[in-house]
Amino acid sequence: MDNSQNQTPATTNFIKNIIENDLQTKRHTTIITRFPPEPNGYLHIGHAKSICLNFGLANTFNGTCNLRFDDTNPEKETEEYIQSIMNDVSWLGFKWHGEVKYASDYFDKLYECAEYLISQSRAYVCDLSFDEMKLTRGTLVNVGTNSPYRNRNADENLLLFRKMRDGEFEDGTKTLRLKIDMSSPNINMRDPIIYRIKKIHHIRTADKWCIYPMYDFTHCISDALENITHSCCTLEFADHRLLYDWIIHHLVNDGIISHTPRQIEFSRLELQYTVTSKRKLNELVVNNLVSGWDDPRMPTISGMRRRGYPKDGIHLFINRCGVSKSPNIMDLAVLESSVREVLEGNAKRLMAVLNPLKITLTNFDETIGSKKSPFHSKHENMGERMVELTREIYIEQDDFMETPIAKWQRLSLGGEVRLRHSYIIKCDEIIKDDNGNIIQLNCSIDKNTLGRNPEDRKVKGVIHWVSVTKSIPCIVRLYDRLFTKAEPDHHTSDFKQLINPNSLDEVNAYIEPAVNTLHPEEVVQFERLGYFVADRYDFNLTNKTYIFNKTVGLRDVWKN
Ligand code: ATP
Ligand code: MG
Repeated sequence: MDNSQNQTPATTNFIKNIIENDLQTKRHTTIITRFPPEPNGYLHIGHAKSICLNFGLANTFNGTCNLRFDDTNPEKETEEYIQSIMNDVSWLGFKWHGEVKYASDYFDKLYECAEYLISQSRAYVCDLSFDEMKLTRGTLVNVGTNSPYRNRNADENLLLFRKMRDGEFEDGTKTLRLKIDMSSPNINMRDPIIYRIKKIHHIRTADKWCIYPMYDFTHCISDALENITHSCCTLEFADHRLLYDWIIHHLVNDGIISHTPRQIEFSRLELQYTVTSKRKLNELVVNNLVSGWDDPRMPTISGMRRRGYPKDGIHLFINRCGVSKSPNIMDLAVLESSVREVLEGNAKRLMAVLNPLKITLTNFDETIGSKKSPFHSKHENMGERMVELTREIYIEQDDFMETPIAKWQRLSLGGEVRLRHSYIIKCDEIIKDDNGNIIQLNCSIDKNTLGRNPEDRKVKGVIHWVSVTKSIPCIVRLYDRLFTKAEPDHHTSDFKQLINPNSLDEVNAYIEPAVNTLHPEEVVQFERLGYFVADRYDFNLTNKTYIFNKTVGLRDVWKN
């Protein structure tokens, strides 16, 4: 078992304080939380916050956390989404308690609760269409008006509700509504719908039901049935809490259910330069604006995984986001620095060249040696490899300047530089094509400098390189922000118009032969360039396809 569950940070927050108090006052002896995703898309970074919070609380207080699919909208929900969500939660290092749960497990019980509320004249069958209902709901300043069907008696309602269940009415022709208060200042209390007719196949209950309960009705009762003590959700549900408590109160008081869960709201996590809404992310996928839900540019958990973000980096970031009721719009740089911090001690170092400039080492001969070098200077246990110099090598184009600027420490005509893990070389000659572009350099090796510095002078610059004959060609995908605006959601135009057309670039690169020791999903640092991950699917040693995704650069490049 990995240890990420133990890395739940020691920092406190208002929800922890509530729980501590509940335990101290013996209001609860043990806590049960839940993570309740709707399987209508892949999870994103915002869900990671909810997951880390709910599972983290359970771990901190020796409680348990359920994974419960809120599967009450059959038209949008798929088995693929269910699988992906389970994979993502597990990948983040969390274990749900017992079997995976589904709101649909409770459809019978929910139906029973609805009949009970009808019998108590707390619910009625309404024939208003959705449009009519909208018109009679009122607004924030105007109260709503009672439905003409509000005073149907319990027997008639029961009969009609059973007919709804039995498929005798068409979609949208009838609903079951709670009878609360059409003049409540809280619109959620104005006779909310709790059941609607949808003659749609359900992924789990197949065609057993043609009426489906609404989220507000389902969620609180599911929480109660699972003995959830603290039901943490995002702030948009704050206005629904009154309804949550109303439903629970009426059912608990009469012994229909036996437990009172408590809803606590915290602010949603949003990340700059991206969107955190499954619906919007789905639009990117179906419009082929990205390669799929797990495109490394996506803020999905699977996208971040494919990008090479380690789960511990995500945990660290979520910890830095904190838990509160204040807006939580995070700078991309915070996420990236969290990822970088975790990778720093964990990623092997290799050399790769992305924009090659060829060098011929004119005095290369059989006296030239090679050095074994560790994959990480601070972690010997990561092993070492031979870094073999050859007559022809590649360096990065931008590590050479014909006429160097002041303080230039890399290579220039007549200047010297150390080849990382190898000798010092000097540039003697530049070769250009007919258009004046530099196509090659001729350099000479100082043969006394393998593993030691010359005594008569200081050569400060060190550059990375690869052998022309020994290196292995590969493809490197480079990423930029997915959107051109920090808050693509908050503009009036279609958010898809704000997508960055240059968010993906693919280059051919060369890597030292030790690339053969890597495995898919391994993140390495290409020295001086950044962290790169061997793609989960497209890095294949057998086929010799070596595709890397850039995880993150070595420093924050977004700063102005
Ligand atoms: P989306 O709009 O992306 O579909 P959602 O809230 O509808 O989000 P759910 O599947 O219902 O998605 O969410 C499961 C849980 O994750 C809920 O408890 C929800 O409050 C929480 N959650 C969703 N988005 C965020 C976010 N951005 N930050 C924190 N928690 C979130
Ligand atoms: Mg939702």
